[in-house]
Amino acid sequence: MANTIPPHNHCMICMKAIPTSETLCSDECKQKYQAMLKKKKLTLLFLWIMIIAFIAVLFFVNI
Ligand SMILES: [Zn+2]
Repeated sequence: MANTIPPHNHCMICMKAIPTSETLCSDECKQKYQAMLKKKKLTLLFLWIMIIAFIAVLFFVNI
């Protein structure tokens, strides 16, 4: 255990080593991260719409 690596984080986008106080290395990665979050949110919203539509169809068929 001669070469102990100092505490550090890795950028969530490009996996580059960064200080522990940071989660992303650059503005470019921050933008990519924001875009990823937006995409995730949209996917989730779409899933919910599909579930609600499915329930609505079942409801109407049963009546
Ligand atoms: Zn990065």
